Amino acid sequence: MNSSIKKLVVVGGDAAGMSAAVQALRSAPGTLEVDVVEAGGIVSYAACGMPYFLAGRVTDVSLLHADPAEFSRLPGLTLHLNTRAVSLDGEKKQVCCQGPQGAVVLDWDYLLIATGTRPVSLPVFDRLGPAEGVYTLRSIGDILAIQAGAADSRSVVLVGAGFISVELAEALVRMGKQVTMVDIIPFVLGPATHPVLVKKMKTLLEQKGVRVLLERTIQKVEKKKDRIHLTFYGEETLETDMVVQGVGVRPETGWLEGSGVRLGSGGAVEVDPFRRTNVEGVFAGGDASQYTHGVTGEAVMMPLALPANRSGRVAGENIARLANARKDGKSEPVELEAMPPVLGTAMVQWFDQAYARTGFTGDKLHGATVTHVVDTAKALPEYLDDSAKTDVVLSILKDGRLVGAQMLGEKSEAKRIDFFALAIGQGLDVKTLYNTDTGYAPPFSVVYNTGIKTAGKAAVLLQNKKNRGE
Ligand SMILES: Cc1cc2nc3c(=O)[nH]c(=O)nc-3n(C[C@H](O)[C@H](O)[C@H](O)COP(=O)(O)OP(=O)(O)OC[C@H]3O[C@@H](n4cnc5c(N)ncnc54)[C@H](O)[C@@H]3O)c2cc1C
Repeated sequence: MNSSIKKLVVVGGDAAGMSAAVQALRSAPGTLEVDVVEAGGIVSYAACGMPYFLAGRVTDVSLLHADPAEFSRLPGLTLHLNTRAVSLDGEKKQVCCQGPQGAVVLDWDYLLIATGTRPVSLPVFDRLGPAEGVYTLRSIGDILAIQAGAADSRSVVLVGAGFISVELAEALVRMGKQVTMVDIIPFVLGPATHPVLVKKMKTLLEQKGVRVLLERTIQKVEKKKDRIHLTFYGEETLETDMVVQGVGVRPETGWLEGSGVRLGSGGAVEVDPFRRTNVEGVFAGGDASQYTHGVTGEAVMMPLALPANRSGRVAGENIARLANARKDGKSEPVELEAMPPVLGTAMVQWFDQAYARTGFTGDKLHGATVTHVVDTAKALPEYLDDSAKTDVVLSILKDGRLVGAQMLGEKSEAKRIDFFALAIGQGLDVKTLYNTDTGYAPPFSVVYNTGIKTAGKAAVLLQNKKNRGE
């Protein structure tokens, strides 16, 4: 082998992994050879699109993933499908894998951990799985199983009232199923949601026929004949044909045990801003790894698609720069690209409505009080649509700096969250937002759109407080 060629092994072939592989080859052509090790049979798939496949909006499941052959044609890239990495040796620079032909050991100069997460299954469901009508959703195989299960079911219980459950609920309602959503906490869409929006979202769910049971803890699950019986603490019971659990995810990092790669408290890989782990030559990206939160500065897990793609790309670029420098005989330091902080900007559709949030929505930030300004704004002029309204919650510090934003209302409004994400990322205050010269024409918004109207309200509130000496 030409010794100037460096080997990159990417473990995990989805958003982070394939972004890294493609970027590394693009930035270091002829210098890097990339092996992608993927436990499943496909790479680069759209997990986010799966609920829309169930809803019938995507008719062919193959549209949700790339054709592996296309990647295989990339010079320097080798795909190892149906191959699982089982252990990592940072000293020998080897990764052991189990593939269709048995054990395979791959040597590497650089390695990227991009193994994502796996869904949590509650202990109360014990060994119940798809064969008994109990599902989780991660892979294309899972959504096909859920689709098949739903075809034979009249009723579905969604355990967990998070984003994925809301997306599945819409699909199942469209399929004519009786849907019940159950959560242990008094929130829908997670504890970061403002109580006003929780109440409104619950109403929106119920208006479409979803039964929402909050603050319920499942005590016992029994399979009796074809039905699943759930018993809650307090003795309330529920019978259903199938259950889909959407109660969170855990980083898929168990295979790193003994490797010396340092994991954070939730099990995600610790990284520096350049996506390097504590083990020489080993990088990490995507849901399996930590990010820095743009408001709190803390290391966090953030299982979302954009940070996964971006962190993979950044890692791939940095690996390429290091490999190029080694090939040219340049000694380090090499200038590396830093991953920008994340804000957890996320959104979810509910029929013609949507919820979106970004930043920090808690009550205390490093000891400082966060004020939540709640407003309802018209989305469109009354002469076009007098029902189009959106609720906005802005979370601000005493000096007016915006740290968080949430919106619930017209689907067309939801992407205004990006305006707030930019403002939070740049440390802007609400007065600056209010004074922004935004676009206006009747089909798009009212003159003071939902974003700047609430910012204006928050600015006035702060000024009044200041005038009162508070
Ligand atoms: C139903 C659903 C809807 C979603 N909707 C949205 C959305 O609307 N917006 C959003 O921002 N995010 C959404 N997400 C989250 C988003 O899909 C993830 O953040 C993103 O896919 C993470 O990419 P990743 O590459 O880090 O990990 P993954 O996509 O999990 O990929 C990891 C890959 O590693 C492989 N792997 C795991 N262990 C091994 C091993 N030991 N050896 C080899 N291969 C291994 C897995 O098979 C997998 O292919 C959704 C997720 C789901 C499940």
